[in-house]
Amino acid sequence: MGRFVDLSGKRFGRLVVLHRVANKGKITRWRSVCDCGGEKTCQASALTTGATQSCGCLGKENARRLGLAKRKYQGSVDKERHARGNMIKRCYDQSSRNYHNYGGRGITVCDSWLASFRAFYEDVGPAPGREYTLDRICTDGNYEPGNVKWSTQDEQRHNMRRNRLVTFRGITQALNLWCRELGVSYKQAIHRLNCGCTPEIAFGLPEIELKDI
Ligand SMILES: [Zn+2]
Repeated sequence: MGRFVDLSGKRFGRLVVLHRVANKGKITRWRSVCDCGGEKTCQASALTTGATQSCGCLGKENARRLGLAKRKYQGSVDKERHARGNMIKRCYDQSSRNYHNYGGRGITVCDSWLASFRAFYEDVGPAPGREYTLDRICTDGNYEPGNVKWSTQDEQRHNMRRNRLVTFRGITQALNLWCRELGVSYKQAIHRLNCGCTPEIAFGLPEIELKDI
C-alpha cells in the first residue's frame, strides 16, 4: 500500500473531493462532486496539478465559448476512440510504454476530453484517413483544443527527425551536434524549435554579438 495525502473535503476548481476509491493496489483515485452536480473520479495528481478542475463541464463551457464547431459522428469512430484511449494511456497510465515521454513529463489531457469521447471528437474531428494519428502542435503542450492535429507518420517523423539542420551563430549543422557541443538537452531544444523559438532560446543561451565568438 503506497502512502497518500488525504484529499477528502479539499476543493480543486469546481470539484470537492468526497472520498478515496479502492483500486486494487493500483494508483489511488479520488471521487469528487462538481459544482454543477456531476461527479468525477481521477488521480490525485490530476487534481493537484490543476489538470482536472471539473467533471468535464468546464472544458465543455470553454469549448463553447471558443466557438469550436460541433462535429457530428460520420460512420465509424473506432479510429478516433482508439486515438483518445492511447492519448489518455500515454498521459496517465504509468505502465504505458510511452508514459515517460508524456505523463512522466507532465503532459496532461484536458478535462473535457478526459471526461467524454464526444467532447474529444467534437474538438478534434474525424481522422482524415487511416494513416493519420493524433499529434500535438507544440510537443511541450498538453492535449487540449488548439494543440492537437491529425498527422501522418511521415509528418510526425519529419517533426522529430534527428538530423534537423539548425543555423546558429552563423554555422549550420545538425541539431544533435549542436546539443552535444553546447551540452544542452536535445529533447528540450527540438521541442522549443518546433514551437517556433529561435536557436538561442531553444538552447537556453543569451543572444550574443557575432564579434564575441
Ligand atoms: Zn461539472
